[in-house]
Amino acid sequence: MNDKKQFHMDWPRSIPFIGMHVGIISLCFVDFSLTALLFGIGFYCIRMLAITGFYHRYFAHRAFKTSRWFQFVGACVGAASVQRGPLWWAAHHRHHHLHSDTESDVHSPTISGFWFSHMGWFMTKEHFDLKEERIRDFSKYPELMFITKYDTVVPALFFALCLAIGWSWQFLLPAAEGVWAMTVGQMIAYSFFASTVVLYHATFCVNSLLHLWGTRPYKTADTSRNNALISIIVFGEGWHNNHHHFQSSARNGFRWWEFDPTFWALKMLSWVGIVWDLKEVPPHIVHLTADAEVDKDEIASGDVQRKPPTVKTTEEETVTSEAL
Ligand SMILES: [Zn+2]
Ligand SMILES: [Zn+2]
Repeated sequence: MNDKKQFHMDWPRSIPFIGMHVGIISLCFVDFSLTALLFGIGFYCIRMLAITGFYHRYFAHRAFKTSRWFQFVGACVGAASVQRGPLWWAAHHRHHHLHSDTESDVHSPTISGFWFSHMGWFMTKEHFDLKEERIRDFSKYPELMFITKYDTVVPALFFALCLAIGWSWQFLLPAAEGVWAMTVGQMIAYSFFASTVVLYHATFCVNSLLHLWGTRPYKTADTSRNNALISIIVFGEGWHNNHHHFQSSARNGFRWWEFDPTFWALKMLSWVGIVWDLKEVPPHIVHLTADAEVDKDEIASGDVQRKPPTVKTTEEETVTSEAL
């Protein structure tokens, strides 16, 4: 429909992202440590759940409700993933759903190529700014705006936490020997650099591979696909065709066998009242399968009928203030 857009890399502002990749070289300078590896895996799991449960299903799609304090907790843990602030992330994701696989999509592999959709788009000058008009329902919270505007604060605190754990382990736990020993350097190499970089590329697969590789049980106006393998590493987000078909649900795995630990975690939080009103998938939506292959040209033309957005960007009913 439009002429091909030109994007311009912003190398100076991309230094932190590139620096995280350079940082994993530190693994070559420390010995293997099982303890550091377990910390790295643990931080991967906690932060991935915050990205899938909060950045994506809560801030982008409002698939459940929670209190103001817990939305900030989810936002901070997600921000420790070093994927910029929650409102920047969610606003761009809403834009993706509105324009999937057209020239206006910020990360379509069928329009812009695999690498641009995977990690090129967010390093361009055109995509650093917050699309505030897409996220007005949350931009009224100053604490969320703060960690979105100053999106290095939480990553710096996460780095300090890794330093503190590593230092305490090395100097305050002299009894920790053998595989249980850990130095500051090992903690930083495994938990800050390696864990974060693996977390990056697992998350980015949703934007790149999940619009290229997998099945399409639903005929959506985009190239989204379901992929069970990717679902394992992104804790349920691999059911991306399901998700594009019915975006507002707290579960992406519509069927019992569709692995979706993010939903299970949200369900457990709902049992103790920390989150509530999880949006389910209506049965008639689940059973509506089409096994539909996609016409990329038709989608790229922008002529296909697109569902209206499932989130409102007004200021209505985001969180209930009495639950603070
Ligand atoms: Zn998508
Ligand atoms: Zn989404």
